[in-house]
Amino acid sequence: MTDDSSPSAIRRWLDDLDTDLQARKRDHNWRLLPSVQSRCEPEVRINSSQYLQFCSNNYLGLAADPRVVDAARSALDRWGFGAGASRLVSGNTEVHQKLEADLARLKKQPAAVILPSGFAANLVALKTFSAPGDLIFSDKLNHASLLDAAAASGADHHTYPHLDYDRLESRLRRFANRRAEGSSAPRGRCWLVSDTVFSMDGDVGSPARLAQLAERNDALLMIDEAHATGVLGVDGAGVAAMENVTDRVALSVGTLSKAFGSVGGFIAGPQAAVDSLINRGRNLIYTTALPAACIAAAQAALHISLAEPWRRERVCLLAHRLRTQLQNMGFDCGQSSTPIIPIILGSSQCALDASSALAKRGIWVSAIRPPTVKPNSARLRISLMATHTDEHIARLVDAMKNLAPAA
Ligand SMILES: *Cc1c(COP(=O)(O)O)cnc(C)c1O
Repeated sequence: MTDDSSPSAIRRWLDDLDTDLQARKRDHNWRLLPSVQSRCEPEVRINSSQYLQFCSNNYLGLAADPRVVDAARSALDRWGFGAGASRLVSGNTEVHQKLEADLARLKKQPAAVILPSGFAANLVALKTFSAPGDLIFSDKLNHASLLDAAAASGADHHTYPHLDYDRLESRLRRFANRRAEGSSAPRGRCWLVSDTVFSMDGDVGSPARLAQLAERNDALLMIDEAHATGVLGVDGAGVAAMENVTDRVALSVGTLSKAFGSVGGFIAGPQAAVDSLINRGRNLIYTTALPAACIAAAQAALHISLAEPWRRERVCLLAHRLRTQLQNMGFDCGQSSTPIIPIILGSSQCALDASSALAKRGIWVSAIRPPTVKPNSARLRISLMATHTDEHIARLVDAMKNLAPAA
């Protein structure tokens, strides 16, 4: 806390922070970091208690898989830990390049480039490939990194209602008409930007539909498959591959931090796009390369994910079964059709109460509150792993019975 000798600018700043923090507490929107004391597995230790958890993005259960851990350990022995410099200087290893080639193959794109995180991948993509004078249309529920990236690019940024492609089309047409009438300046490029699996709702967009809109309106399509990669489609290639439109996607972003159990993001696309990112992408040029151990872990996870398709089949089957049971109990799971299952409750207080009631029964599911989701749609967000057992799911269902609206 401050005392009377603090410079007044600091004191005023801290007062402002305090006002904001108090309001968050009052509105049940205060956030606290849980202290995790075990590996990312279904059974975890958090804040000194044992829980069954349903809130990691470790969909295939690979984050602590012994083969992934061994791959990281071997890479540590071979490369040490820190990369020591940015990729353009001396931080780029052959391990990075091998994984980039494999990611490009997975995404059926000519090339791919790895960034320190999925967040950085989205930032660098839109900051490098769009600028003031360009247009970006984003789904309103796109991941924060995409929305921030669009804002940071300086392009003219518009959001359309979630998955409302008819609205998007009419907006695109309105822009085209205005330009044809000469009532707006000629624009630069136009990007359509969307998640494929939406993080807080677990519902799925249609790259095929977006590709069609992009083509009709002389626009480019960028998709973020963070939650789809490794999970959906043949080989876990994602939704664009499922819909057979990979060749109509200009840029495809993914992450190594979810199904692939490691850390890092990537962008797959044309070779010239990757070369441009290497030459101009500030989040690649001015940042240290990821350690080879992290890349080797992701490489091992990718390999396992291709060799063991039962993992994505199982996590999707568990999600289907659980969702059906929850819906039969009267819960609102939105339009989820993936291993992300929201239970939409309403107020932040409701979501927090539900989360603590589950915690008392040894089950860890986090409450997602505004501003992450829109007001009055606070929720529990369940996410599943291939390594959850049938008995784990039964325990969750049993605990949920006590919260059921129909009970
Ligand atoms: C998690 C996520 C990201 C960020 O990925 P990180 O590798 O965790 O930085 C980007 N986009 C979407 C849709 C995500 O869900």
